[in-house]
Amino acid sequence: MSEAPQRLLQAPVLVLNASYEPINITPVRRAVVLLFKGVATTEEEDGAHLHSAHLSFRVPSVIRLREFRHIPFQTRALSRKNILLRDRYTCQYCRHVLPASDLTLDHVVPRSRGGRTDWDNLVACCHRCNTLKGDRLPEEAGLRLLKPPRPFTLHTSRQLMRMMGKSDERWRKYLFY
Ligand SMILES: [Zn+2]
Repeated sequence: MSEAPQRLLQAPVLVLNASYEPINITPVRRAVVLLFKGVATTEEEDGAHLHSAHLSFRVPSVIRLREFRHIPFQTRALSRKNILLRDRYTCQYCRHVLPASDLTLDHVVPRSRGGRTDWDNLVACCHRCNTLKGDRLPEEAGLRLLKPPRPFTLHTSRQLMRMMGKSDERWRKYLFY
């Protein structure tokens, strides 16, 4: 596949529950799998078409699950990507917004002091602050957290979805109600 379709496959698609409640954002690549499996239907199209040797389809912009899915309080897996997403790619100490490659994860309470690898003890952190903090608590290093880290909840997802969908007419009507 050429570069353009590759980029298109990564484009974000808004996922709605059967009840039209927005629940997730997924790349076109995964949204298309849900459509082919018959798990979801297209609500809004992107306007673009994708062609491959065997098929051609309209790129979705918003899809909806056919069956209502109960979304548990915490749906996101604990991962570097999700922590960075939760913290909006912002160093939680110096507040600089940086590309993912310039950010690392900091254990607020260092592991050497029994700090756990969990949502409420991991934050996005720039290399400079990370080095400065070392094996200490933030206050010992003269650092202050932007906000206490929390699990990635549906509330967090919704804030992100609203941020991403602000300028997209096809998303807006599902996100701002
Ligand atoms: Zn920093």
